[in-house]
Amino acid sequence: MRHAARSWWLDEAGGAGAPAAPLEGDVAADVAVVGGGYTGLWAAWHLAEAGASVAVVEAGLCGHGPSGRNGGFVEDMWLSLPALRARFGDAGALAVGRAAEASVAAIGAWCTANGVDAWVRGGGQLVVSAAPAQDGIGADAVRTAAELGVADRVVALAPEEVAERCASPVFRAGVWMPGACTVQPARLALGLRARLIERGVRVFERSPVRRVVDGAGVETACGRVRAPHVVLAAGGALAAFPPLRGRLTVASSHMVLTEPVPDVIERLGWTGGEAITDARRLLHYFRTTRDGRIAFGWAGGRLAMGARLRGRVEVDPAVAAAAGEHLVRIFPALRGRAITHAWGGPIDIAPSRELTLGSLPSERVHFAYGYTGNGVGPSQLAGHVLASLALERRDEWTALPIVGAGGGRVPPEPLRWAGGSAVLAALRRKEALEERGERPDGVTRFVAGLPRRLGITVGR
Ligand SMILES: Cc1cc2nc3c(=O)[nH]c(=O)nc-3n(C[C@H](O)[C@H](O)[C@H](O)COP(=O)(O)OP(=O)(O)OC[C@H]3O[C@@H](n4cnc5c(N)ncnc54)[C@H](O)[C@@H]3O)c2cc1C
Repeated sequence: MRHAARSWWLDEAGGAGAPAAPLEGDVAADVAVVGGGYTGLWAAWHLAEAGASVAVVEAGLCGHGPSGRNGGFVEDMWLSLPALRARFGDAGALAVGRAAEASVAAIGAWCTANGVDAWVRGGGQLVVSAAPAQDGIGADAVRTAAELGVADRVVALAPEEVAERCASPVFRAGVWMPGACTVQPARLALGLRARLIERGVRVFERSPVRRVVDGAGVETACGRVRAPHVVLAAGGALAAFPPLRGRLTVASSHMVLTEPVPDVIERLGWTGGEAITDARRLLHYFRTTRDGRIAFGWAGGRLAMGARLRGRVEVDPAVAAAAGEHLVRIFPALRGRAITHAWGGPIDIAPSRELTLGSLPSERVHFAYGYTGNGVGPSQLAGHVLASLALERRDEWTALPIVGAGGGRVPPEPLRWAGGSAVLAALRRKEALEERGERPDGVTRFVAGLPRRLGITVGR
C-alpha cells in the first residue's frame, strides 16, 4: 500500500501539468483570491463570469489540498435541515437547503458545459446505521423535511431497502438523499484550474500569502496583488490568519482505496453509484469508483495543533491501518483483497459545524470556512457568495441567512488540542465498543459526551 499525502485521485487525473508561475512583483486585480481549492476556484470562476479581473494566489499547487483528496461526495445540505431550522427558521433553512441542492446540479452542469469529465454520477447519498447505537440516524431530518414540505429530499429507508442498494451484513435502517452525487474530486479541481487559466484568469502557484492588507490586497515573499477586495479561501490554513485565528479547529480525515473489486461490488448489489456513510460521529464514508474500486474514508484522524496541516494530519499509518480494518468490518468480502493506496488531509471545522461565510468589518476581506468535511458541493455555493460580496452586490447569494451568521469561537491552544484530542480518543473508543455491541465504560461516555454538554460539536 502506498500511503502519502498525495491522493490516488490526483494520480488518476494525471496531475495538472506544469505548475503556474509564482507571484513576483506587483500585480493589480479587482479581487485577490487566497487559495486554489474548490472555494477559491469557484469564487474566481463566478468573479470572472461577472467580468471582474481576478488573481488566484496558491501556496502550493491548486487542487492538491483537500479539494484533490476528498471522498468526492457532492452533498446537498438536507441532512442538516434540523440544525439549519434551529438557526435560521423555516424559510431560512429551506433557502439554504435549496441553494445547496442547486449547487450539486450546478457542478454537474458546469462539467458538461466546460468539457470536464469529473466522473459525475448521480447515485444519491445513503446514511445508514451500522450498529444498534447508531439507530435513528436521520430521523429528525426526515421529520423536519416532511414538516417543511420537502419530504422527498430526505427519505427513510427500512433495512431491506438499504440492503437493496448495498447489502453489507452490518447495515440496518438508513436515510436516503436522492439529490447527492459523486465526482472524481481531483478531476473537478484540476478541471476548474485549467478552465480558469484558459479564460485568462491569472493563477499563481507556489506562492504562500504571508500578509493580507485590508483594502489593499495580499503579499507573498516575492510579490503582491494590489486589489480592493480579498477572498480568503485557504481552508484549514485560515486558522493561522490573524483575523480568523480562534474561529476554527482543524481535524483530519483519511482514505484507503482497494484494488479493483468489481466482483465484490456486484455481489453487494452496490451498482447504483450511491455515496454511503454510516452514523458514527467519527464517520466512515465510502463510494465506488469508475474502475471498480471502493474508496473508504474515516474521519477519526488526529486534531492539528493550531494550523499545522502537515505531518500526521496527512500521513498517519495508524489511522490508515485502522480505516482498512473498519472497511473489512463493513464489507467482510474484502478480506484478503489489496488496499493499494491511502492518503489523508485536514478538515476545517467551525464551532457551529456549519459553513461560515462573511466579511471582516471593513467589508473588503471575505471568507469561507467550516465545511466540516462537506465542502465539495457547498464550496460552489460559497464561491457565489464570495464573488457577490467581493463585487459589493446584494443579491440572492448574499441574502442567504448563513452569510454573516458567524461560526463561533474555539478555545485557545494548547487547550483546544489537548482537550479535543482527549475527546477524540474517547469517541474512538466508544464507537469501536458500540460496534462490537459492548457498552462503553462511564469515563469514556463522560469524556466523549463533554463537547455536547459544553455546547460544542465534535465529529458529525
Ligand atoms: C480525506 C478527506 C475526505 C473528504 N471527503 C469529502 C467528501 O467526500 N465530500 C465533501 O463534501 N467534502 C469532503 N472533504 C472536505 C472537502 O475536501 C473540503 O471541504 C473542500 O475541499 C474545501 O475546499 P477549500 O477550497 O475551502 O479548501 P482546500 O481544498 O483546503 O484549499 C485551500 C487551498 O489554500 C491553499 N493555501 C493555504 N494557505 C495558503 C496561503 N497562505 N497562501 C495561499 N494559499 C494557501 C492550500 O494550499 C489549498 O490549496 C474531505 C476532506 C478530506 C481531507
